[in-house]
Amino acid sequence: TRTMSPLRFHKRFASLGSTFYTELQPSPIKSPYLIATSPPMLAEFNLSAEQMQTQEMIEIFSGNRTAPDSKPLAAVYSGHQFGVWAGQLGDGRAILLGELASKRKDVLHEIQLKGAGMTPYSRMGDGRAVLRSSIREFLCSEAMAGLGIPTTRALCLTGSDQYTMREMPEKTAIVTRTAPSFIRFGSFEHWYYNNQAEPLQQLADFVIQHYYPDLAQTDNPYQALLRAVVNKTADLVAQWQSVGFMHGVLNTDNMSILGLTLDYGPFGFMDGYDPAHICNHSDHQGRYSYQMQPRIGQWNCHALAQALLPLIGEVDSAQEALSCYTEQFERSYDRLMHAKFGLTTFMPEDQDIFNEYLELMAEAKTDFTIAFRQLGRLQIADQQNDHFLRDLFINRERLDQWLVNYRQRLQLENSQDLERQTSMNLTNPKYVLRNYLAQQAIERAEQKDFSEIHKLLSILAKPYDEQIEHEQYAQLPPDWATTLSVSCSS
Ligand code: AMP
Ligand code: MG
Ligand code: MG
Repeated sequence: TRTMSPLRFHKRFASLGSTFYTELQPSPIKSPYLIATSPPMLAEFNLSAEQMQTQEMIEIFSGNRTAPDSKPLAAVYSGHQFGVWAGQLGDGRAILLGELASKRKDVLHEIQLKGAGMTPYSRMGDGRAVLRSSIREFLCSEAMAGLGIPTTRALCLTGSDQYTMREMPEKTAIVTRTAPSFIRFGSFEHWYYNNQAEPLQQLADFVIQHYYPDLAQTDNPYQALLRAVVNKTADLVAQWQSVGFMHGVLNTDNMSILGLTLDYGPFGFMDGYDPAHICNHSDHQGRYSYQMQPRIGQWNCHALAQALLPLIGEVDSAQEALSCYTEQFERSYDRLMHAKFGLTTFMPEDQDIFNEYLELMAEAKTDFTIAFRQLGRLQIADQQNDHFLRDLFINRERLDQWLVNYRQRLQLENSQDLERQTSMNLTNPKYVLRNYLAQQAIERAEQKDFSEIHKLLSILAKPYDEQIEHEQYAQLPPDWATTLSVSCSS
């Protein structure tokens, strides 16, 4: 007799039909063990930390056992990689177990095992994910959620002493990740470029029905879908820019139809501010550099619009939906910048204030996170005490002039120091997942010490809180970190 499993999988994506995926079992992995769980995600699914430690759960989330009701599958999609049509891709190492209901009962979340073995879409890959990249995805998913930025989530991280070959042999791991849907722009492009109108429409109808139900009533639901995704994407990229997050591989197959940050690879948070910074070592042209992200978000929306065109009908209608991108991005970004600078009113010259500060930062390569967090400490009346800011910049004269303008601007809206600092601290994080912090957790984990993962997870869940006891996690990266490089090899 089978014990009652706490996991009741739904088969909502599977109900689309087998055109959209291949059914298959995850490949078993050698002696799996639980490395970490995300407390907020456990709560989301009404699971306890003790339950996660049971043999049954460890086997399910390592892919060694199929849960009752689960019908594992790998989805097919295509995409543009680095601006070039790449043809068929698909879940090459992620396997969807099905959907679980969250505590808000009507919401289903897809549960994927990333790194669970080969699929028909693995191409040259081995279907595995190394411990290093799995730790990065696990931590960053939860860190982004802590920042309040839309993202796929991570329920748990499972390890194994099984090795897989990269530049050298590395330990493998599996991230159990979740999202209402992992459908990508590339899922639509797949049918468009294969000239298959029927599955294209079926997929769009599925997305509208489950994730954008209000759009079903509009005149042109497919145009409305495009507009909604365009707006969400613009909002998402604005939020990335506001915290200095760089995705690293903004291919259309890594763009979520729900506007979530998706597929964490060679991402990075900006340390010393350089708008041209490229976080992905393999991105030689800088297509996905920090300053390019807003344009790339738009480019990707164009690719989606192209794929949806047979459903939308008129090119003009698609253009109209696409044209929302710039305005939406600017509105979102401007709102975020006002908040970052502690301004509650909007004035024409505000742009100059923002740009001048960013230029000062670029000139001195001031740490992005620290530059904004420290700005919150400014006291309008106390001009003798700006050293905490002045120390961050090279051109002190230019900074002093900026500070005069900024103080005037703050006085124009009768800004109050304490109130302003409180609100700025809610938008300028103190803690972000700097590469070197992830690296420290990775190096310890390679030695089977997972304490640093747990510690980072807890700190990054509250990135806006002072957490004085963890001050060292808010410091500048150490010198050795400047040589760290991350690439697509994961
Ligand atoms: P990415 O750029 O990491 O999002 O991956 C692009 C494509 O390569 C996707 O179809 C992935 O599933 C696939 N892929 C990446 N790494 C592997 C791997 N180790 N094994 C199989 N497929 C992979
Ligand atoms: Mg991907
Ligand atoms: Mg990937």
